[in-house]
Order: sequence, then C-alpha cells, then structure tokens
Amino acid sequence: MNPPMIWLSSPHLSGEEQKYIADAFQRGQLFAWGDNVNAFEQDLESYLGSGFHVAAMNSGTSAIHLCLLLLNVQPGDIVLCQSFTFAASANPVVYLGATPVFIDSEPDTWGMSPEYLEQAIQYYNGQNKKPKAIIAAHLYGTPYKSDEINTVAAKYGIPVLEDSAEALGSFYKGRKCGTLADISVLSFNGNKIITASSGGAVVSASPEVKKRAVFLASQAKDPAPHYQHSEIGYNYRISNICAGIGRGQMEVLENRIALRRENHAFYKSLFKDISFVTVYETPGEDFYSNYWLTTITVNDAAEKKSAFGLMEWLASNFIESRPLWKPLHMQPVFKKNAYFGTDVAETLFNTGLCLPSGSNLSTNEKERITQAVHQWLVLKQ
Ligand SMILES: *Cc1c(COP(=O)(O)O)cnc(C)c1O
Repeated sequence: MNPPMIWLSSPHLSGEEQKYIADAFQRGQLFAWGDNVNAFEQDLESYLGSGFHVAAMNSGTSAIHLCLLLLNVQPGDIVLCQSFTFAASANPVVYLGATPVFIDSEPDTWGMSPEYLEQAIQYYNGQNKKPKAIIAAHLYGTPYKSDEINTVAAKYGIPVLEDSAEALGSFYKGRKCGTLADISVLSFNGNKIITASSGGAVVSASPEVKKRAVFLASQAKDPAPHYQHSEIGYNYRISNICAGIGRGQMEVLENRIALRRENHAFYKSLFKDISFVTVYETPGEDFYSNYWLTTITVNDAAEKKSAFGLMEWLASNFIESRPLWKPLHMQPVFKKNAYFGTDVAETLFNTGLCLPSGSNLSTNEKERITQAVHQWLVLKQ
C-alpha cells in the first residue's frame, strides 16, 4: 500500500471554525455579509493594528482587482509588476485593459528590484507614459525591501499595491506585512498560512477606502429603495460562512506562524551539511518571515543533483514539492509584455524548490522527508 501523500501546504483547522459556521446557520446568515464578516474584519484589524481598515473579499485575486480599481487603473495604463510571483498578482491588471510590465527580483529577498523598478519608471516617463501603479509581492513569507520600493515610488508619485497574500504574520523593520504600502492585499486561500477555504482582503489606512471597496464589492448599489446603480459593481464580498472559517483560523494564527517557522528550522538542520543545497533565509534583522513555504536552491552540476531531480524523487516517495514561481515574463500568456531586469528570477526558477511546509506537518512526515532526502543524496541520477 502506498503511504499517504505529504502535501506542500494543506489547510490546518483549529476546530473552532464549525462554531462560527453553526452560528451563521442559526442566524440564517447565509449570504455575503453578516456577523462573521464583520467579526473577521475586526479580528484582522486588531491583528494588523489600530489605524488599519480591512474589507474582506471572496479571494485575494478579487481583492487585487478591487485595489487596482481604487487606484483608478484604466484601459491602456502601464502597471509595473514583480515578475517572480504567482500569476494572480498581475492578472487583474489585464482584467482592467491595462498592461503589466514586469520587473526582476533582487537576490536578498527575491522581491521586486528597486533598481529595475526605477529604470522602468524612467523609461516610461521618457515615453510620456507614467506608470499608474506598482505591484510588489512578498514571496514565501519574506518581506520585500519595502522602504526602497516605497522611496522609488514616492520619488515619481506612483502608488504601491502590496501583495501580502503569502505574508500575513511577517514583519519588515518591526511593521506588519499587509500595512506597508498605499493599499495592501491578503489571501485566505486553502494553501495559505491561514484559510477561509477561499477569501481575501483589502487593507488600507483610510476608512474611506474600506467603505468604497465594500461598496464596489457588493454590486455598487446606490442608496435607494429600488436597485439603482451609478457605477459598475462587482460581487466580490466574502461569504459569511467562509468568514466564519476565517474567524476560527485567526484564533490560531500565532501558533501557525510558529509551526511554519519550526518547519524552516527543521529543513535548515536537514540540509546543514549539504554544500550544494541552500535553504533560503531572510537577509537580516529587518526581515521576519512567517516562512509560509520553506524554499531551497540546488546548485550542483558535478553531482548531477538538481531541484527538479529532488522534486521527482520526492514525488516517487509520495511527497509533494514544487518549483518556485515561474517568472511571469517567461509565461506564454505574457510573452509580449515588456520586462526590466536580468536573470535573477529566472535562475531562482531554474534552481529552486518549495518543500512541504504545512503547519500540520507531523513528526512522522518529517521523518519520511528526512529519509527520502538522505536517499536522494546517495542516489545515482
Ligand atoms: C495566493 C496568491 C494570490 C491570490 O490569492 P487567492 O486568494 O488565491 O485569489 C495572489 N498573489 C500571491 C503572491 C499569492 O500567493
């Protein structure tokens, strides 16, 4: 019999979720508003700290779309996007008829390169086409160089959208990810650090932005007894059931961060004597990662060991691992889009791997991973 699959990052329930779901049923609140939605938003607001306002959405992707609407991105506009990220960071730019232009990463955090960002801005300003927004993403829980990105953005007067889908619980210079830009996005997809089964959020320091995000996300209904609309609306609010799951997960967020960080320590120790495997680590005290996923890079031509080889070997042992994000400028769907940078993101894609990192990873599963990695090290591939 095959052993059970070890997953990359699967939902890890607290057991409290059902209480809030039952509550929604009891109150008959089976719609995209209600007590769970309000309370989930409050939980997030108290976590992120006073002064931040949260509008919960049905996905991180819809939250990004709404943020771009709030930043007034229009057809024909240029939006500068980190290339090395999940496609959902940039797809909503295309929903709006605007064009994503991709920027390479810098090697310390794997986040957007401030130098190539500035180069791109200067290029488009020279063409009299000032970019409308910047989308930077924290990858695998590690904060990007937020001050440097914000400094470049401010110099040219371009707003920054912070994609913090992977970084709830991470800190940059003591400040929480999700509060580091003009507007920010969280995700509660099933594979994220905490889940609502599906969900996302728009975070802003302005109560007006929250109000407007909720208005647009609830079909843009004008105040009138009949259905009256002066603007195009969206059906993007989170379901009251999903928000109940989110509430149950918020109760254990700190614990989940601690467990993901323990996974990272486990892999550090597993690979500590292997010279050609580097477990990614944050570059210094300014960066505190929730280590949503532990990632490695593998560099050994002589031994013919590769990240891809390890992935295949783990798969044959019923252990899921995944390559790092394929840079968006290399994706078929974006092959005509402009790109500023060199090969930082591309090299990471070619040499990197995400390892099983769920907060529910058991001791037994860690033993299976240890054994499989030890076998791989002596394997003739
Ligand atoms: C997961 C993710 C998203 C999308 O969030 P969904 O809730 O799945 O729509 C966007 N950006 C990044 C970087 C992500 O990891």
